Amino acid sequence: MKAPHFAIIGAGTAGLATAILLAREGHQVTIFEHVDELSPVGAGLLLQPAGLAVFEHLGVLDQALKLGAKVTGLEGQLADKRLLVNSHYHQAEAHHFGLGIHRATLCHVLTEKLAEYSSHVTWRMGHRIDGLEELQSEVRIFGSCKYQFFDDCFDAVLIANGARSQLRPKAWVKIDQPYPWGAAWTIVPECLSLNPEILHQFYDRSNIMMGILPTGAIPAAPQQRLSSVFWSLPTSQLQSFLKDESAKQQWLKQVSDRWPDVAEWFSQLLLDQQNQPQWLSAQYRDVVMSKFGQGRIGVIGDAAHAMSPQLGQGANMALLDAWAFSQSLSLARKNQQIDWSILWQHYHQHRRSSTQFYQFLSRLLTPLYQSNHWWAGSLRDLIFPWMYQIPYFRKEMAITISGLKKGPLQQMSYQQIAEYQHHENRLITNNQSLPECE
Ligand SMILES: Cc1cc2nc3c(=O)[nH]c(=O)nc-3n(C[C@H](O)[C@H](O)[C@H](O)COP(=O)(O)OP(=O)(O)OC[C@H]3O[C@@H](n4cnc5c(N)ncnc54)[C@H](O)[C@@H]3O)c2cc1C
Repeated sequence: MKAPHFAIIGAGTAGLATAILLAREGHQVTIFEHVDELSPVGAGLLLQPAGLAVFEHLGVLDQALKLGAKVTGLEGQLADKRLLVNSHYHQAEAHHFGLGIHRATLCHVLTEKLAEYSSHVTWRMGHRIDGLEELQSEVRIFGSCKYQFFDDCFDAVLIANGARSQLRPKAWVKIDQPYPWGAAWTIVPECLSLNPEILHQFYDRSNIMMGILPTGAIPAAPQQRLSSVFWSLPTSQLQSFLKDESAKQQWLKQVSDRWPDVAEWFSQLLLDQQNQPQWLSAQYRDVVMSKFGQGRIGVIGDAAHAMSPQLGQGANMALLDAWAFSQSLSLARKNQQIDWSILWQHYHQHRRSSTQFYQFLSRLLTPLYQSNHWWAGSLRDLIFPWMYQIPYFRKEMAITISGLKKGPLQQMSYQQIAEYQHHENRLITNNQSLPECE
């Protein structure tokens, strides 16, 4: 009997990581991605220790460390210079740290690793999937490529096509709505006037928030270290942000009145007429599902649990989904047969409570940083300093940011996730190249 053949829809963090794990265990994988070329645009993101544990498990951590920026903690400053947030990974575990990484670099390390298993992987770039149907012993998918319609059958399908997915089964969706606030972001040369190992945030009440994240370098320019800058805004204002010179000056004044050092650094960047920061916008969704998989269909990554990036967990959760799916698959697999109900039972045990915990917290905290409620900022400024006084809460906050919480009282182990036992003869490796990310 032949090994099961999986289709993965979407070549983002969740899709690529899952493809590596499936191919490494000898499964056939076909990846459908609707863009023609992988050239990920997006603000830099912070991989937490949980995500780095999956990177270690995937065998890509060393490569990511070469280009990414090591981050030791998060410091959030108020307009009166008080530190409201002062959370450091070592408060959770002595050797833990995060990694600021550019999306192109994230994609590069994952596709490079996937290239090692290319005999197990088929790429279908420029293929958009529009629907799927589970049959008795396979799943049929329907899509289009260059205006030609096609359909194809697989033993199982994983939907990994991001927050705006129209493919997740409607009956499983409990909540699917946009957040009222998003962020304008830009990537600029590294900010050296601030500690380059810290994610810096700046808040004034709940309606002003800025973040500066060390982002490391991209593969095409490894010497140029970068920072991502985020400015929080209601979604209705995102398109018009800094559209003309007077808006730029007004914004700089807003920053300079509160955090003059940051405004000074940004003014210097604006002097370079050739390389003006390009601002783009990001919007977030809140997606809650009653289940992540059943039978031969599963939903992973943002498609399964999109949330606000306030806690910086989205990519980590996508990586943990990939890890949990491959763990559940090896448990549910006997020879080439897979018991799908065991697989999903095990997967939900791994992922449900952790996902619920982070989604709940994210929904609770986001209005404290992104809203016009008069009480939200004051409440936050009152409670947070008090919590940081208590060692138990300080540690819990660091563990939460690390992405390792399974629920309010439970925690995952970095080591258990990172561990990988190499099974001889499962793999046929070869080094054919794959689509590049710039
Ligand atoms: C401003 C911002 C900052 C963030 N910061 C952080 C952070 O610091 N830390 C963190 O962990 N997370 C962060 N996140 C969240 C993180 O980016 C996402 O959670 C993560 O990228 C989700 O990965 P994914 O693979 O599920 O989806 P995606 O990366 O969205 O990938 C989906 C893929 O599916 C493809 N696709 C879509 N539809 C179809 C279709 N019909 N057919 C075929 N292909 C399709 C898309 O082209 C895409 O390649 C941030 C998000 C934003 C917006």
